[in-house]
Amino acid sequence: MSEEKKIPYKIYLEENEMPVSWYNVRADMKNKPAPLLNPATLQPLTFEEMRGIFCDELCKQELDDKTPYIEIPEEIRKFYKMYRPSPLVRAYCLEEKLNTPAKIYYKFEGNNTSGSHKLNSAIAQAYYAKKQGLKGVTTETGAGQWGTALSMACAYLGLDCQVYMVKCSYEQKPFRREVMRTYGANVTPSPSDTTNVGRKILEEFPGTTGSLGCAISEAVEAATAQEGYRYVLGSVLTQVLLHQSVIGLEAKAAMDKYGIKPDVIIGCAGGGSNLGGLISPFMGEKLRGEADYQFIAVEPASCPSLTRGKYVYDFCDTGKVCPLAKMYTLGSGFIPAANHAGGLRYHGMSSVLSQLYHDGYMEAVSVEQTSVFKAAEEFARVEGILPAPESAHAIKVAIDEAMKCKETGEEKTILFGLTGTGYFDMVAYERYNNGEMSDYIPTDEELAKGLAGVPKFPGNEI
Ligand SMILES: *Cc1c(COP(=O)(O)O)cnc(C)c1O
Repeated sequence: MSEEKKIPYKIYLEENEMPVSWYNVRADMKNKPAPLLNPATLQPLTFEEMRGIFCDELCKQELDDKTPYIEIPEEIRKFYKMYRPSPLVRAYCLEEKLNTPAKIYYKFEGNNTSGSHKLNSAIAQAYYAKKQGLKGVTTETGAGQWGTALSMACAYLGLDCQVYMVKCSYEQKPFRREVMRTYGANVTPSPSDTTNVGRKILEEFPGTTGSLGCAISEAVEAATAQEGYRYVLGSVLTQVLLHQSVIGLEAKAAMDKYGIKPDVIIGCAGGGSNLGGLISPFMGEKLRGEADYQFIAVEPASCPSLTRGKYVYDFCDTGKVCPLAKMYTLGSGFIPAANHAGGLRYHGMSSVLSQLYHDGYMEAVSVEQTSVFKAAEEFARVEGILPAPESAHAIKVAIDEAMKCKETGEEKTILFGLTGTGYFDMVAYERYNNGEMSDYIPTDEELAKGLAGVPKFPGNEI
């Protein structure tokens, strides 16, 4: 029997093999990600300034770039056991279909009701809010996965959950909205008349269907206006990347069990949380000089923050109420083409991934939408799982890498993150199936317009 035959289709960990700590990759970075800045003073945001918005323990995690391992509280580990470990799947059927010598693995995070990896951080953020004795949390949601994940976590812990959902999604994705309400969340279409900023936007732009930036501004205001509430965010922040390291730790433990070492690790990148989480433990080895891996971030050609953005301090939201973050950005005013289907529409990128990319530890590629859906369809037909359009960006590049191996005869081992399922994205699939989907690549002039909105101060020139 060849060695390969011994590797099962799915590698699961036993409960006692599951991670007990998250891994904080910042601890092993020589060049630390730049700190968040207070936009008024341009000084690093302090714990005291942060704690009015986020709960205390999460502020500490956000600021901690030294502690490599942070224990996962018992209560969170208990919750993780309901839907984790997530399977590490050997894509034997896809390999066969592609007739490639490459060995392909994917870590599947869609096996929970929220349908994505977002639950890994939602439960952590809700737990620390609860532990601090807070009444509830507020957040925004665009495509809806984050709002759903947070609703599930809050229901489990008995915490109030207020979600500002971008109005066009609220109307176009009624089923997502109803999942959130089933878990007890209060869902408000944004912009709304429940906040000052919402009322102002409605007055200025009557009939607007909203944007993520606007929903963030409303959620932040709602958190600071109510006693016992804090704001939570599903991506971009370093604390979120920390919680998502559970993906990479499990993947690495499962691979180590069978002596598998990936050559290439691929993930889709919106705000960077799943990719950062998946690569963290492997990146740690690379940073410490213990092993080498090739890391590839995949982003949509319609929202190319790493491949065409600038590495500068920028606002995290369109409303400019949040602190400044140093990251690869297209400008907080950049709005990706309306025809873009996935949830990878954020203008910026995690400060951790931005620094690693800047220092040459990671590569990035951008892919066009129709090629992503073609890969999604090919994958669904042989591997059975109907992927989220976001996840399909990683599938597309994993297939490309496997096809390169076919040409060269290399037997590379490829690992990619399959972040979720696409059942709520069938309108996009419908457009693809009808041949109505188009690719839109912004021109340099359009990108320059977004970048013109980057704040200007000494040392922050584009
Ligand atoms: C939110 C989401 C993403 C992108 O977010 P990251 O923070 O970049 O991981 C990717 N896939 C799915 C399924 C998502 O819900």
